[in-house]
Amino acid sequence: MAFPLRHARRLRSARTWIATGVLAPIGMLTVSGLMLLDLRRDAWDKAEQTSRNLLQVIERDIARNVEIVDLSLHAVVDNLKAPGVAEATPEMRQLILFDRAATARDLGVMFVLDEDGDSVVEAAQVPARKVNYKDRDYFQAHRASAGLGLYISRPLVSRLTGDRMIVLSRRIDKADGSFGGIVLATLRLSYFSRLFDQIGLGPEGAINLYLRDGSRVMRHPYAEADIGASIAGTPNFERFVRERSGTFVGTSARDGVERHYAFSQVGDLPLVLNVALATADIEAGWRAKAAVLGATVLVLCGVTVFLSLLYGRDLRRRDALQAELARLSLTDVLTGLPNRRRFERVFERAWREAGRTGKPLSLLVVDADHFKRCNDRYGHAVGDEVLKGLARCLSTSVHRPEDLVARVGGEEFVILLPETDGAGALRVADKVHEGVATLSVASAGIGAGAVTVSIGLASGFGDDVDGGGLYRDADAALYTAKESGRNRTCRAGGARRTAAPVEALRLVGS
Ligand code: GH3
Ligand code: MG
Ligand code: MG
Repeated sequence: MAFPLRHARRLRSARTWIATGVLAPIGMLTVSGLMLLDLRRDAWDKAEQTSRNLLQVIERDIARNVEIVDLSLHAVVDNLKAPGVAEATPEMRQLILFDRAATARDLGVMFVLDEDGDSVVEAAQVPARKVNYKDRDYFQAHRASAGLGLYISRPLVSRLTGDRMIVLSRRIDKADGSFGGIVLATLRLSYFSRLFDQIGLGPEGAINLYLRDGSRVMRHPYAEADIGASIAGTPNFERFVRERSGTFVGTSARDGVERHYAFSQVGDLPLVLNVALATADIEAGWRAKAAVLGATVLVLCGVTVFLSLLYGRDLRRRDALQAELARLSLTDVLTGLPNRRRFERVFERAWREAGRTGKPLSLLVVDADHFKRCNDRYGHAVGDEVLKGLARCLSTSVHRPEDLVARVGGEEFVILLPETDGAGALRVADKVHEGVATLSVASAGIGAGAVTVSIGLASGFGDDVDGGGLYRDADAALYTAKESGRNRTCRAGGARRTAAPVEALRLVGS
């Protein structure tokens, strides 16, 4: 039984409720905080996974298509060396040099140019259209250097079709290894834009394809000004080139938006691809959830704190009220002195203590003399004033904290003196008489010396079951004092259980 009782008491304590009101919200906030962090991590994991997957798919598509075009270029370079090709008719030469890839959807034109940049053979028609591309960077690059392999140009506008495109080219070497021209194929940028446009990346998301020199080949979402623009030298691009593939969060040099970049080099080509999701887009869904959850938890916490504080305050008030009631139930209303109930409790304890220590305990029973007359003459209100005055006199007669002065009846008081023998108690009784002798109620015309008290005194050592004997002895001594003429102290003598013989010890005044 003790355990549940203790729990029940704890639950009724204001401190417990206030602590609960503070700790429970802290717990709720911690748990929801951890949950929100977890949800945020999930959102980032998902974004990272999505962008990696997209990157892989796009990268493979570009690598495969460029490889197909490159294979065709390779075929042209190889076939040009085949015997009889130089002597074949233009129609035959076209058939030998170009395969079906030349007709692929996004492939623009395919040309073989001689060492002066003039068109020699064209995949689409015989005879080849007359063009000269010796001013183009790819032509000059191949002429200047033999080992370039596949060269991918910056984005250009086709002079034949007006399309935006990049040019893929290979060098043709003469038998002696000198520059013999190039073979080129153009790849329309529409291929990239179509590929990128299939993908939804959120309002601020982007896909970028760059050449290794930093020029942008394509961006999704598309903007004319972005094509061909260079981001060489920016921290993001340096990282793309240095690490070849990976992920990081960085701020775009183009628009200042913070994004999560998944980037990779496209196969072995001089192309860098990235899929960039805006941080704000990644966290948009999470933020909405966090706002709802956070607001709900905060409101709940607020309500919990408020209710707990309210309940705690009520409990405190109730406790204070109970303590006040308890105090009042042990206090005499008129004089403010401890009442009979309190006296009985203290007396019981003091009596036991005396029995334990063997030290004497003295009790004075103090009764106002002829108080009825006082009431009759001056009225009940004045009688009350006299009683209050008596209470003050008695209180100032004792000094030790363990001494107790109480009002136990109408005009009857007691003074309990632990660790005090009869002689000591008599000195206190003297002080009481001296004090009472100075008591006056000026408003009623009661002067000093008009009020007197009789005192019965008894001392004991706690050698009785409940101390009743001591009280009876003191009461009997009081009776004797009254009998002997009042305004005096009588001390119970002999056996403590016996009221007689009682001797009159003192007479103050007459
Ligand atoms: P004795 O000297 O023999 O003690 O005479 P006494 O008149 O004091 O004794 P008694 O017991 O006959 O009367 C006590 C009176 O005290 C009766 C009552 O009117 C008065 N009294 C008791 N309580 C109060 C109180 O709270 N206020 C006032 N004003 N008088 C009280
Ligand atoms: Mg009296
Ligand atoms: Mg009395």
